[in-house]
Amino acid sequence: MTLAERVRLGILDASQALRLLAGGHRRHARNYMIAAPALRRGWTGSTFSVLPLSTGLPRCIEVEPTTSCTLKCLKCEHTHWHVPQRNMTHEEFLHIARQFPRLCGVSFAGSGNSLEQPEFIQMLEYCHERDLYTQFRAPLLFLTRKRAERIVQVGVDRIVMTIDAATRATYDALQPGSEFKRVIANASYLVECRCKAGAPVPELTFVFTVMGQNLGEMPQFLELVNDITIADTRSVRRVAFIPLLAFEQTQELAVTVPKSLIRETREKARRLGRFAVTFGGLGGRHRAASCRFWAVPFITVEGNYYPCRMMCGRNRRRQADKHVFGNLFQDDFREIWNSKEAAAFRFGLRRATPPELCRVVQCPRCAAAGDRAGDP
Ligand code: SF4
Ligand code: SF4
Repeated sequence: MTLAERVRLGILDASQALRLLAGGHRRHARNYMIAAPALRRGWTGSTFSVLPLSTGLPRCIEVEPTTSCTLKCLKCEHTHWHVPQRNMTHEEFLHIARQFPRLCGVSFAGSGNSLEQPEFIQMLEYCHERDLYTQFRAPLLFLTRKRAERIVQVGVDRIVMTIDAATRATYDALQPGSEFKRVIANASYLVECRCKAGAPVPELTFVFTVMGQNLGEMPQFLELVNDITIADTRSVRRVAFIPLLAFEQTQELAVTVPKSLIRETREKARRLGRFAVTFGGLGGRHRAASCRFWAVPFITVEGNYYPCRMMCGRNRRRQADKHVFGNLFQDDFREIWNSKEAAAFRFGLRRATPPELCRVVQCPRCAAAGDRAGDP
């Protein structure tokens, strides 16, 4: 992501927080300002992130509520798993969240479909009670009207929708098991609900993972987003084009994006207006030494503590699990965080060679991994 894109997104975040403040949601607005930059761009903006030996606990976490998913997206590690799927219970989630007294934001992420998790709405309600910034990822296939209305009511801040195509044919080929028309209708209904309620959130961020099959549809995708959000005449539409996190089984889907196509897509966004489009990772690298992502722990559906979300996605969990520092269902997070191993890991990120854990998961942010990826 370029500096200009980062600044623009920072301004958008600030204006969103101001809208919450104007609506009387003071604590939520404060949490938004702290958590949105950290969860969206890995920017924690405090001494906490530059002092790896800090004993203060993180303010934001990422939690995997489920590994259940009935879809078979070609790009996804989940499609290649042969292990039983699992749901985190609401009680387990509470047990995790209560270990973070300074918590400001929660992102529900990982490999699974949150909307297939039967207790997911309860988890969102808990976050609402604590005025936390909340975001989740889901393809919205299973979003019922009742759920859409509840999601608006509980003030979820951001929903990340991955639609990797602008046409039904490409969508069906890349995301088998899903239904293009239904996903678009559900997303449009969510936008409509929010507009009717006059609520500033949830904001939809549209993610398009660029692969060989959908490369040519990048500019056209903006028209699709325009149609989905037609009811919303005020907000800026956020779209992120990101590279594929390729692994052994998905290597042939990866592609290099020509600069001319990026220019054409930017131009299209400018012509349509009210678009904030990013191309994170389609042209840059991130050095582990400047990594801040460790400041947002990722808790897997089994309770394992991963230092960051980049440990997922490349189908390397078996390898990562051999190196984890603890499990939040069994151990106290404060003790794990302050353990010698975890502190040494954080300190190791400042060295030229990334820690072993970052290397075994082939983190795309490590210069050593020799790869490219970016911010959603
Ligand atoms: S990308 Fe998401 S929706 Fe698709 S298979 Fe993976 S977990 Fe399921
Ligand atoms: S895997 Fe390591 S280098 Fe990569 S983002 Fe996570 S903590 Fe940073």
